[in-house]
Amino acid sequence: MKRSQLFLPTLKENPSEASIISHRLMLRSGMIRQSSSGIYTWLPLGYKVLKNIENIIRSEQNLISQELLMPTIQDSEIWKKSGRFDDYGKEMLKFKDRHEHELLYGPTNEELITDIFSKNVVSYKSLPMCLYHIQWKFRDEIRPRFGVMRGREFLMKDAYSFDENKEDAIKCYNRMFLSYLRIFKKMDLKAIPVAADTGPIGGDLSHEFIILADTGESDVYLDKNILGENIPNIKYDEPLAISDLVDKLTSYYTAADDKHNEDIYIKSVKENDRLKTRGIEVGHLFYFGNKYSKPLEANITNNDGQNIPVEMGSYGIGVSRLVGAIIDAHNDDKGIYWPESVAPYMFGIVNLRQDDNACRVLSESIYNNLIKSNIEVLYDDRNEGAGIKLAEMDLIGIPWQIRIGPRGLKNGYFELMNRKTGKTIEVNVNEANNIVKNKF
Ligand code: ATP
Ligand code: MG
Repeated sequence: MKRSQLFLPTLKENPSEASIISHRLMLRSGMIRQSSSGIYTWLPLGYKVLKNIENIIRSEQNLISQELLMPTIQDSEIWKKSGRFDDYGKEMLKFKDRHEHELLYGPTNEELITDIFSKNVVSYKSLPMCLYHIQWKFRDEIRPRFGVMRGREFLMKDAYSFDENKEDAIKCYNRMFLSYLRIFKKMDLKAIPVAADTGPIGGDLSHEFIILADTGESDVYLDKNILGENIPNIKYDEPLAISDLVDKLTSYYTAADDKHNEDIYIKSVKENDRLKTRGIEVGHLFYFGNKYSKPLEANITNNDGQNIPVEMGSYGIGVSRLVGAIIDAHNDDKGIYWPESVAPYMFGIVNLRQDDNACRVLSESIYNNLIKSNIEVLYDDRNEGAGIKLAEMDLIGIPWQIRIGPRGLKNGYFELMNRKTGKTIEVNVNEANNIVKNKF
């Protein structure tokens, strides 16, 4: 993409409506604009990041789950059956169609997926089954804030598992646990599993995945040794190895404010290992057995010929919230530095002197070559001063900057800079069409 053609309304000043860094940077780098409280338009740059995050999630979830797409609008009937039509409270947006039929904008999908399952699956032979979708949700949050971190309309990945018995359901829960560790790692995030309350979803086993960040909304108390744990190379069809990993990670003391017990914390974690900080919840696992399958009559015939309610769990990831969480963990005084896996473009070409013929020819040659190789590249081809172009490229956080100027070219080189480290190397112009190999 050429910068001259990209719809990228960047801001020089810090917008007054944004109180945290990720929100400020998303507005300044032209990723989003608010359309109504807690409801945002995703502009091209932000939308590319959102899609990249979705695709990382897909690549991992597809190994243990099947993607489908449920609607945003749901019928109130199924929510009346589960009892949550009234219980969910004011966060749920309800409305009527022209026939006075009650509908709602889904805040989550347990009821709908259970209804689909109940009408289409009858036997244990179809199990285990795990289904997910990536779809917009609406929750009329009392205090939408921090940009996409706590929106009213937000994008969620939500998966739902169906099993014949509790033992199999826990195996699925554990596979999700591992999948979440891998998903967040791919985004260069350190997500800590924390035992959680089950809240309005209900059930008796639940973990939140929390990113440590000063701007987080909840207090978190940790045994900091969990931060040093690596994710072993286990396959999803190794339930014992996965269970060992989950048991190991959940044996560390980790708690958000609602579950924290100071006495147990002090007794079980050495003083030097205690870390009290703040965190952002980016994912949530629930096992809730037959809480929804019972009222919605999602029954299956089990191996013994009995008709029983299916065992279920649900597993959410805040896809749009992750954009903010990743920025929170990857920024400096100049702006964002994207992890390569989610970056809107891998390379940014800064032509420092647009009116210089040699600079233009080389910039275009590198640009065309990268496009031919299917590598995402943004070429700043505008007639702007070098300072403006460099500052913007720093702000929007493209991982690799190619800086092409007349002084270097005279000596036969241009510069390649890593946005995160600032480390810069000189690349010989003969290597220009081999730029990917020069990444260091
Ligand atoms: P929170 O405690 O932050 O309100 P929750 O427990 O209500 O979250 P879940 O119902 O578990 O959230 O939803 C799954 C994921 O969706 C959460 O882990 C979070 O990342 C994301 N999420 C929830 N509410 C919002 C929101 N208002 N804006 C953006 N993302 C959200
Ligand atoms: Mg909530």
